Amino acid sequence: MAPYDVIVIGGGHNGLVAAAYLARNGRKVVVLERRHVLGGSAVTEEIYPGFKYSVCSYVVSLLRPEIIRELDLPAHGLEILPLDGTFTPMPSGDYLWRMNDPARTRREIARHSQLDAEAYEEYGKAMADMGRFVKPMLGLLAPDPTKLEPRGLLDLLGMARRFRALTGRDQQNLVRLMTMSAVDLLDQWFETDALKATMAASGIIGTFLGVRSPGTAYVLLHHYMGEIDGAFRSWGLAKGGTGAISNAIAGAARAAGAEIRTSSPVDRIVVSSNLATGVVLASGDELPARMVASSVDPRLTFLGLVGASHLPDEFVEAIRRFRYRGSSGKVNMALDALPDFRSRPGPGPHLRGAMSISPAVDYMERAYDEAKYGRYSSRPYIDIVIPSLTDPTVAPPGKHVMSCFVQYAPYHLAGGAWDDCREAFGDTVVDTITEHAPNLKDIILHRQVVTPLDLEREFGLSEGNIFHGELTLEQLFFLRPAPGWARHRTPIRNLYLCGSGAHPGGGIMGAPGRNAATVMMKDDR
Ligand SMILES: Cc1cc2nc3c(=O)[nH]c(=O)nc-3n(C[C@H](O)[C@H](O)[C@H](O)COP(=O)(O)OP(=O)(O)OC[C@H]3O[C@@H](n4cnc5c(N)ncnc54)[C@H](O)[C@@H]3O)c2cc1C
Repeated sequence: MAPYDVIVIGGGHNGLVAAAYLARNGRKVVVLERRHVLGGSAVTEEIYPGFKYSVCSYVVSLLRPEIIRELDLPAHGLEILPLDGTFTPMPSGDYLWRMNDPARTRREIARHSQLDAEAYEEYGKAMADMGRFVKPMLGLLAPDPTKLEPRGLLDLLGMARRFRALTGRDQQNLVRLMTMSAVDLLDQWFETDALKATMAASGIIGTFLGVRSPGTAYVLLHHYMGEIDGAFRSWGLAKGGTGAISNAIAGAARAAGAEIRTSSPVDRIVVSSNLATGVVLASGDELPARMVASSVDPRLTFLGLVGASHLPDEFVEAIRRFRYRGSSGKVNMALDALPDFRSRPGPGPHLRGAMSISPAVDYMERAYDEAKYGRYSSRPYIDIVIPSLTDPTVAPPGKHVMSCFVQYAPYHLAGGAWDDCREAFGDTVVDTITEHAPNLKDIILHRQVVTPLDLEREFGLSEGNIFHGELTLEQLFFLRPAPGWARHRTPIRNLYLCGSGAHPGGGIMGAPGRNAATVMMKDDR
């Protein structure tokens, strides 16, 4: 008899969520993680002594409340601290600052445009309505219109009913969201350039699209959804860095009896007569199990660990077509003091939220233009947070950690290699921020530059895509990762996909892990 009921490949947060649910339901589970540390892209590492970097993901907004509750993550150390607002320095020397307090935000936007201040509230309501329609789908298996399964048809019917129950205005808004570009949509609401540019940024994160590319309006909603779950302080920082989220989930999984091994790369999934029967580790050891769940991205899972020869041609073709095209990088810094913004000098609460280098829509689009032709942006969009201001555990007293998420950093460079231009890319990011915060260069103690190639090599993200494949409409819902295979099952019996490459996609959400565990337990009954 196999020693394990389930092998979970990958100890990122989704693999750990799947393991926790399966173990709680009596399955004997082992998680095999390639790296020396758990968390995948939700990881904290002390890269420079005394400073803890959230090396990849840095803010949490989408983590499913039912997972926090059911796995009792606070009891395992999860603490989410609120992140207050977004500060955008403007070319005029002014700034735009949106805070969590609606009345103050309204006053602040009114400084730039009275019309925008009024529209902002309405827009928030419309997005919340859209979010309420779409959000339940995150916790469900993707309805699949290509299959005539009664359960799937019922889900589809439920969705159609809910769509019909929306007001005419909401139905129109939803169609707009599904088809328009972020900027086209925002143009219908607002006139302040910096406001539109900063809001549109959520539409392009993790995709190789520009703020004017059709389809980005939906991604805007995907990122916005966390914001409507106020009770869970949805935009926040995990105390101890995003690795603390993974560690809390790992704690819940261990408490339920799961075994977790780090430094245990899987070399291949053993397939016999179209049935997954276990894995072979890079060490050569074979580990049998009744079921295997992979949280590794679809390309690496199917074309790497399984091998195309075990899979139907049509499925292999769909997996090959699934787009990654990483477009983001990260620069993490240890600072001796706080950055001093020209537009709002001195320390203050504006440094406690996100600081967004997104001064104008044209700036954002130009940053994309360069990426289109294979260059990293000479003036990129940067989303900055200084977690040490909210969470003093991540830096020594008086010092700070600064996390800079950067776009665009195209995986495919037209000339040269990332290994040769990593530091030049880091310089570009520092130069860009320095234009707004002139003291930055003098206060940097250490800098870690993470390119899309590093994301692929170190974190196992194909082409450096931060979401295991772009979050664009043609790769979501019943199409993720391939038409007909969005409900976590795969063409190989007893092999399941439980990471961000499955519905409902990337972000620290945990939904793919939880949904996959549900399907596996159902099949295992
Ligand atoms: C730079 C960056 C910034 C981001 N920012 C945010 C953010 O601020 N907020 C947010 O919500 N999301 C953010 N994301 C996205 C989010 O972090 C990911 O979507 C999410 O963490 C993915 O979780 P996962 O468990 O599905 O996969 P992963 O975290 O990728 O986990 C997969 C695991 O599998 C392991 N693995 C790979 N190959 C093997 C093998 N052969 N054998 C064993 N193990 C293997 C990997 O090491 C990894 O630990 C960001 C991602 C990146 C990269």
